[in-house]
Amino acid sequence: MSAMTTPAFTPRIETSPNARSSAERAGILADPGFGNHFTDHMFLTEWTPEQDWHDPRVVPYGPLSLDPATAVLHYAQEIFEGLKAYAHADDSVWLFRPEANAARMQRSAARLALPQLPIEWFTGSVKALIEADRAWVPTGEERSLYLRPFMFASEVFLGVRPSQHVTYSVIASPAGAYFAEGVKPVDIWLSSEYSRAGAGGTGAAKCGGNYAASLLPQQEAASHGCAQVAFLDSVEHRWVEELGGMNLYFVHSDGSIVTPELSGSILEGITRDSILTIAQDLGHDVIERKVSIDDWRDGVADGTITEVFACGTAAVVTPVGKLKWDGGEVVSAEGEPGKVTADIRGALVDIQYGRAEDRHGWMTRAV
Ligand SMILES: *Cc1c(COP(=O)(O)O)cnc(C)c1O
Repeated sequence: MSAMTTPAFTPRIETSPNARSSAERAGILADPGFGNHFTDHMFLTEWTPEQDWHDPRVVPYGPLSLDPATAVLHYAQEIFEGLKAYAHADDSVWLFRPEANAARMQRSAARLALPQLPIEWFTGSVKALIEADRAWVPTGEERSLYLRPFMFASEVFLGVRPSQHVTYSVIASPAGAYFAEGVKPVDIWLSSEYSRAGAGGTGAAKCGGNYAASLLPQQEAASHGCAQVAFLDSVEHRWVEELGGMNLYFVHSDGSIVTPELSGSILEGITRDSILTIAQDLGHDVIERKVSIDDWRDGVADGTITEVFACGTAAVVTPVGKLKWDGGEVVSAEGEPGKVTADIRGALVDIQYGRAEDRHGWMTRAV
């Protein structure tokens, strides 16, 4: 089959005979947490060079059976995405910039030598799963259905080369408010020994391997009482990149807002990108530039940096409390988030939940 033509996306639907009862579902939705519970269905499709993407289907949620020699288990050729479906007051369900996730998955795939999933297949797969599991979309303050599209090398082969059999799947998990007791600042540990990504590496791709490398520094952070790790560039150990799974913003006393410029080893967050626009809407100068660790430490200490926040789909916008390192700390928020952080967060979630006008055409109706 020619790689030029996009195969038509017409998924078949196999309804689960084991779907949870509405009472069971209500029990889970009463307190879903994050990433603990999964809906009744999942999406699957496979790719080979001969067949392209084929047999798109929504099937009952359940284990995948993998041969022990499946390539992903050995060489980690895997990428993923994360986005949310939001229930609006009129019972409709919406996605926030799903084409941006689809395009990023294509860029991640290119870096990991995985095949390109057409944009329509990405958005179509997510919508098909939401439609099948519509009853699992939670309602209520800051609740959502978290969607996890992922793609992996499913060829049974131990040779080292790009897999000739690839699986793409989407699973869904109801998510409660990330901050159940209101938005609270998180403390961050500055990793001096480890980097998340190197020049020419996979830092700009959303791949599981980057997360595997971040777990040990994450553990180190926890041992210092911090919930997250900040990573610097791998060459000079000087330039601020991001956290393990969130981008960073610095609010300055003159009202300007700075985020580290994309360096090739920073993940291009869709929340980060949306805040570039939203902060401008709110009247801020928004600047992408290099930020050194001294800029951060000294800026917070001398008051030129008034607020620091992290951003990503799961927590949206998270105020940073302390930055701690071996031998010191600076505090940028205590107890409550700063005003600019809270305003940006509010503006974004109001769009996502349909309470504010979608001026930038970011929302796509799913159901
Ligand atoms: C997913 C991710 C982010 C945040 O991206 P969003 O699209 O805003 O959710 C930031 N950093 C890393 C390393 C990530 O994997």
